[in-house]
Amino acid sequence: MIEINNLCFYWEKSYVIEGLRLNIQAGQHLFIEGPSGSGKSTLLNLFAGVLCPKKGDINILGQNLRELSPSQKDSFRADHIGFIFQQFNLIPYLSVIDNIILPCSFSAIRKQKALQRSGNLNIEAIRLLKALGLNDQALFQRSVNELSVGQQQRVAAARAMLGSPEIIIADEPTSALDSGHRDAFINTLFNECEKENITLIFVSHDTSLKKHFSNHINLTDINQIKQEK
Ligand code: ADP
Ligand code: MG
Repeated sequence: MIEINNLCFYWEKSYVIEGLRLNIQAGQHLFIEGPSGSGKSTLLNLFAGVLCPKKGDINILGQNLRELSPSQKDSFRADHIGFIFQQFNLIPYLSVIDNIILPCSFSAIRKQKALQRSGNLNIEAIRLLKALGLNDQALFQRSVNELSVGQQQRVAAARAMLGSPEIIIADEPTSALDSGHRDAFINTLFNECEKENITLIFVSHDTSLKKHFSNHINLTDINQIKQEK
């Protein structure tokens, strides 16, 4: 499903990721931990094709990301990967619902899957919001920048889940949630992933969440940084 070989990446002077190998099976739920600054967000952005490796290969669903042009990478990501960014990346001038159904503007496959589930995109967005504990109808048409950080985090999660992409990548997705909302979040995410056999890659500082996952790794154990660039 995901095969990573000899992955290397640096930002400026020194390597952040070096010689990294990792295989992730379809349907696996992988928890990645590692200290702040160890390269977790960088790695997730490489998986999603947002960043390009300096060396090495990333194969996802049989596709080597290196073979895709930037625009092909964008459409590959839109079709197959739901990404919950650490900084959410919501569109401030769009409503909550329009942010959630945005992937359907870029992916006919995800639009089709969302319609199969609920028959209507708005209804599917509301189903996900309610499952995540956002029940207040007044919120749904509001602009996202009028929401609290914890509410925005759940909008970002609903957007990633809409249309059941084969892979969901979540970068510290519970950092702004209290324990009640965190549990609703984890339950909803796992329900969606199990129903659709979605592969989940989840990064968090909160190691109490590790017990929910079939596999876990510490980035510092698989990263082989040994040299200054
Ligand atoms: P983590 O998510 O584990 O906290 P990051 O992947 O965000 O770690 O960062 C890993 C390293 O890469 C850090 O040293 C950070 O300063 C550096 N880094 C991250 N993003 C950038 C960027 N856009 N430009 C330059 N350096 C960056
Ligand atoms: Mg990070």
